[in-house]
Amino acid sequence: MTELHGKCLCEAVTYQITGNLGPIYHCHCSKCRRWHGAAFRTRTSILRSQFSWLSGEDKLSTYDSSDNVTKYFCRTCGSPLISTYKDHPQVLGIALGGLEGEITEQPQGHLFTDSKASWHQITDDLPQFTGWPGAEALVRKTAD
Ligand SMILES: [Zn+2]
Ligand SMILES: [Zn+2]
Repeated sequence: MTELHGKCLCEAVTYQITGNLGPIYHCHCSKCRRWHGAAFRTRTSILRSQFSWLSGEDKLSTYDSSDNVTKYFCRTCGSPLISTYKDHPQVLGIALGGLEGEITEQPQGHLFTDSKASWHQITDDLPQFTGWPGAEALVRKTAD
């Protein structure tokens, strides 16, 4: 059983994940690029039952980035933390960058490469998806 911890930039919000991570993807969609202020967002999916906040829940704010998706972030430092999905309430999306410690799983591909920043070149040989491979693809391998 793996146990990972993560935190926001100001360290007020901390959280814990138990069990295996789902597949890891680099998402190049314009919303992820804007939310992270980066070329892409590296993210994985976990079951909600694997996740718990350890501190700072009162510092969380949320933003509905679509009818389906709600983003959680630290109100003090702005760090992006998790995403929830109305159509898959048992699953969370989580930014890999906030996690600490050794992560042995490797990214499995690139999502929304049609929206990729023009100034960023993908230089690895991972599979590229022009869009969303479907929630099932992201959830399928999520173990509890
Ligand atoms: Zn913070
Ligand atoms: Zn995205």
